[in-house]
Amino acid sequence: MILEVAGLSKNFGGIKALAGVDFHLDEGELIGMIGPNGSGKTTVFNVITGIYRPAGGSVTMDGTPLVGLSPHAINRLGIVRTFQNIRLFRNLSVMDNVRIACHSHVRYGPLSALCRSGGFYQAEGEIWEKAMHLLSIVSLQDRRKELAKNLPYGDQRKLEIARALATEPRILLLDEPAAGMNPFEVGRLMEFIREIRERFRLSILLIEHQMRLVMGICERIVVMDFGQVIARGAPEEIRNNPRVIEAYLGEGSGGEG
Ligand code: ADP
Ligand code: MG
Repeated sequence: MILEVAGLSKNFGGIKALAGVDFHLDEGELIGMIGPNGSGKTTVFNVITGIYRPAGGSVTMDGTPLVGLSPHAINRLGIVRTFQNIRLFRNLSVMDNVRIACHSHVRYGPLSALCRSGGFYQAEGEIWEKAMHLLSIVSLQDRRKELAKNLPYGDQRKLEIARALATEPRILLLDEPAAGMNPFEVGRLMEFIREIRERFRLSILLIEHQMRLVMGICERIVVMDFGQVIARGAPEEIRNNPRVIEAYLGEGSGGEG
């Protein structure tokens, strides 16, 4: 078990966004977290990554309690996330977006950068190579000079993931990475997520609103509704679970998935 979430609760004013959430992520596992809009999925990520402090409960990575640590400290421990609304430096090049992410992870002091010492140049060269490597993994190396904002939507998502990988995480949290993609892009993205898990030995928690997207690639699925886990298990168990079907039907969107 690499990540354990236990009894997590979080209120916003009168809204119980999380009301006792329990689940765990095993090393190397790919878990899907699904649930209707407003069920608390993003809030789980915000608490795990230290953006919000929970009202109660615990988050533990490899036995280390995370509640109370800063987002930066949690990132240093190897947890990185992407956002439901893409966050990129829109007016910087694709390459610079990845390089900046790599910088946050390179060990050389501010002094060596100021002095432009040998260490600095060496690190800069290493960063360029590392960024190129990451761009090739997401198949964006040929578009490295373009501005991030000019990439098609699906490629912006991949760039965001490349930035996340630059920090060499052990746990990757993806918040609706397929949102806004066409079916072709979604299929490729799901393949890609599987690939990077193998390649970087990641443990991944994947939030997705649409149930059927995660059915094919996740070993286990956690279903949220009204701030609680209402079901967990293998995709085939989830698919026919009456509570899950009800939660999605109750959403009034025609019951996605
Ligand atoms: P999901 O990601 O499953 O769509 P969220 O975690 O974003 O759901 O939201 C869960 C609930 O908490 C919703 O009712 C939402 O309106 C509320 N919520 C989330 N973040 C905030 C916030 N910063 N301030 C107030 N309410 C919030
Ligand atoms: Mg959300």
